[in-house]
Amino acid sequence: MKTAVRQPLRILVLGAGVAGISIARGLLRDGHDVAVFERRPDTRPGGGAVTIWPNGSTVLEQLRVDMDGAGQLLSTVRIATSTGRELVNIDVTAIVDRLGGAVRMVPRRVLLERLMEGFPADRIRCNSRVARAVGTRDGVRLEFGDGSYAEGDLLIGADGLHSMVRDIAGAKPAKPTGWCSWQGLITLPHIADKGGAVQIVGEHGNLGLWPAGGSDLQWWFDLPWSPGFVRPEHPIDMIRSNFAGWSDLVDQVLAALTDDDLGPSPFPHFRHPIPRSPRRGSVTLVGDAAHTMPPILAQGTNQALLDTMVLCKALSDLRKEPNDSNGDLSSALRWYEKTRRRRLTAVSWVTSRQMSQSESVLKPAAMISDSFGTWAMMTFLRSISHRRISAEVDRDLSSGFVRR
Ligand SMILES: Cc1cc2nc3c(=O)[nH]c(=O)nc-3n(C[C@H](O)[C@H](O)[C@H](O)COP(=O)(O)OP(=O)(O)OC[C@H]3O[C@@H](n4cnc5c(N)ncnc54)[C@H](O)[C@@H]3O)c2cc1C
Repeated sequence: MKTAVRQPLRILVLGAGVAGISIARGLLRDGHDVAVFERRPDTRPGGGAVTIWPNGSTVLEQLRVDMDGAGQLLSTVRIATSTGRELVNIDVTAIVDRLGGAVRMVPRRVLLERLMEGFPADRIRCNSRVARAVGTRDGVRLEFGDGSYAEGDLLIGADGLHSMVRDIAGAKPAKPTGWCSWQGLITLPHIADKGGAVQIVGEHGNLGLWPAGGSDLQWWFDLPWSPGFVRPEHPIDMIRSNFAGWSDLVDQVLAALTDDDLGPSPFPHFRHPIPRSPRRGSVTLVGDAAHTMPPILAQGTNQALLDTMVLCKALSDLRKEPNDSNGDLSSALRWYEKTRRRRLTAVSWVTSRQMSQSESVLKPAAMISDSFGTWAMMTFLRSISHRRISAEVDRDLSSGFVRR
C-alpha cells in the first residue's frame, strides 16, 4: 500500500555554510521546497580545514555527497606535551573499523564544493541580508534590506556564530571562553606522515598540525585571549616565542609562516549555552547558530551534519502523517531540539574543559595506554552519534520513502 504523504514544507534556510547547505541538501532529497539565503555575494568559502569524524562522514554518505579523494584520510592522532612526553596515540584506523565511515581532514573549501555538487544553484539567493523575520498566521516571513520578502512554513537559522535567527528565537548569545586559535593551511612539500595528526599540549598554550590532503597541512596555535586583546604588530614573532622548539615539524612550520599567513587570525573561541527549555514556533537552529563550541574536539562540522540528520528525520516523519497541522510541525521541531540537546550538552561540556591550560594537569595521561585512549575516543564518538536514528534513516533511504 502506498503511504499517504503530507504536502512538502516550504522551508527558508538562512546561511549557506556547511550547516545551511547540508540541511538544504537533505530537505531537498526528502522532497521539501527549500530556499537558502546568504548575505555574501557568492558561496565561495574560505577558512582552513575541518575534521570529519565517522559521525559526520555517515551523514555525508546519507546525503550522497561524494567525498572520494577529498582532503586527507587520517590513521593516527598523536598527543604529546611540549617537552616531548608522549601522552597517547589514538588509533584512528581502529575507530573507523569499529564505527564505519572515515576520518578525514578536509579544507572547508573542498567540503563546500562537494556539498554543492548536484545541488540546484537556483535554490540559493546570495546578497540576501535579512532585515527582519516575523511570524505569520501560516509560518514565517523574511524581509530583506532591498524590500523583497520570502514566506515559508519554517525558518531554519544556519547563520553561524553570531546568528540573527538565534536572537529571534530568544536563545542566549555565545560567550568567549578566554582562548583563541591562530590558524590556517600551509603547503609543505614533504609531509613525512600524511595520515598522522599531531597535537601538542603546553603549559600556556597548545597546537595542532593535521595533514589536509596533498601538501596541505592545517596548523593551529591556541593561546589565551580576552576582548581587550591588542594585536601585535608582528604576530609571527609572538607565535614563535610561544611555540618554537616544541618539535622539528613545529619549527619547520614556524619557519615557513609569515605575518600574512596570520592575517585572518586570531579566531576567539566562543561557546553557546545549550538551552534547557524548548523554543517555540516555526523557527529552529542548526550548526554554529545553535551550538558554537571551542574547536578542541574538532566536532563543529560533525555536529552541524548530525543536526541535518536529526532535523531531516523529524520533518520526514512529519510528512508521513498527512493530516497534521502547524502544531505538529512545532512538535517535530521540538523533538529535533530535544533529541540533539543531550548529545550537544555532552560535547559542549567536554570542549569547555580547557585541557591546554596546563601541561602539568595532563601528566597522568601519559599512564593511559594507547588502546585505552583509542577506546575512550571511540566510545565518546559512538555515544554522541545518534546511531539508532542513523540506522532508521538508512532504512528510510533504502525503502525509498525518502529519495537517495
Ligand atoms: C570563514 C570561515 C572559516 C572557517 N574556518 C574553519 C576552520 O579552519 N576550521 C574549522 O574547524 N572550522 C572552521 N570554520 C567553522 C566551521 O565551518 C563551522 O564550525 C561548521 O562548519 C558549522 O558551520 P555553520 O554552517 O553552522 O556556520 P558558518 O560556517 O559560520 O556559516 C554561516 C553562514 O551564514 C551566513 N550568514 C550569517 N549571517 C547571515 C545573515 N544575517 N543573512 C544571511 N546569511 C548569513 C554567513 O555568511 C555564512 O556563510 C569556519 C567558518 C567560517 C565562516
